[in-house]
Amino acid sequence: MLSLIVHGGAWDIPNELIESHKNGVSKALQIGWDILRNGGSAIDAVENAVNYLENDTTFDAGRGSHLNAEGEIELDASIMNGKTFRCGSVGAVKNVRNPISLCRKIMDESEHIFLVGTGAEKFANEHGIALCSPDDLLIEREVLKWKSIQGKKDFSTKDAFKFHTASDTVGAVAMDSEGIICAGTSTGGTFNKHPGRVGDSPLIGCGTYADNSVGGVSTTGWGEAMIKVVMAKTVIDLMEFNEGNPQEAAEKGIEILARKADGYGGLIALNIKGEFGIAFNTPRMARAFINSHTNTPQILII
Ligand code: ASP
Repeated sequence: MLSLIVHGGAWDIPNELIESHKNGVSKALQIGWDILRNGGSAIDAVENAVNYLENDTTFDAGRGSHLNAEGEIELDASIMNGKTFRCGSVGAVKNVRNPISLCRKIMDESEHIFLVGTGAEKFANEHGIALCSPDDLLIEREVLKWKSIQGKKDFSTKDAFKFHTASDTVGAVAMDSEGIICAGTSTGGTFNKHPGRVGDSPLIGCGTYADNSVGGVSTTGWGEAMIKVVMAKTVIDLMEFNEGNPQEAAEKGIEILARKADGYGGLIALNIKGEFGIAFNTPRMARAFINSHTNTPQILII
């Protein structure tokens, strides 16, 4: 069974942005699906689907990400292979266009898992990942948004996920023809975050998890709350003990997020049969999925 699910963030996506979100997740799904259909690996499907979303300025990942409180972009990402348990992640990188590919390099070519800041950028430079200028990641929409809240004290990150402040983290989970399950997540983090703030997305077990005996998960939402409930691994554990029901585990995970951490967000899950689970407690979440059973892409926002 081949299976792929991608997401492009959970928040109150306004009507005028529905088309761009649908297009983005739909194209990312197509890229990953072509890889899987042609016998490619789950890790390649995840990396390439996420690369597409990082390059699409609709989303809060790679170019077009939110600015932090000092007007800079700091990117977080992670990737995990559920067969080998190898993983790679980066936090607060400023000079890398495609942080998920840097995560992949760390996973493949380092004894470490998590590199941050200038050390992560040094690793990128040493391992053939092109660095960019921080300005290459900036787009006018985000600069204007950041300028519009300067001098205001009432901005709440929690509210960002309920109301019209974009929070378009991206992620993907895939299963290939060898039954290998991989997951990845990439983000610019929350709008106006403190410099150096790292959210759930690069934390293995919070933003991303894959275990070939159970499934894979990628999350999006208010990172501080997601970290408190170790969201991705919690959903994996729920699936491990509910006979592998990904939808039930996803819903229970979001219920735990809301009840224990007063959190908002969403997640995608995949089990070892290539079945999907999707849950969110924000008004909308961009997601797309396909497996070789249905062979038909599903693109959903609401
Ligand atoms: N989870 C991300 C973070 O807190 C943001 C998001 O998913 O939109 O950094």
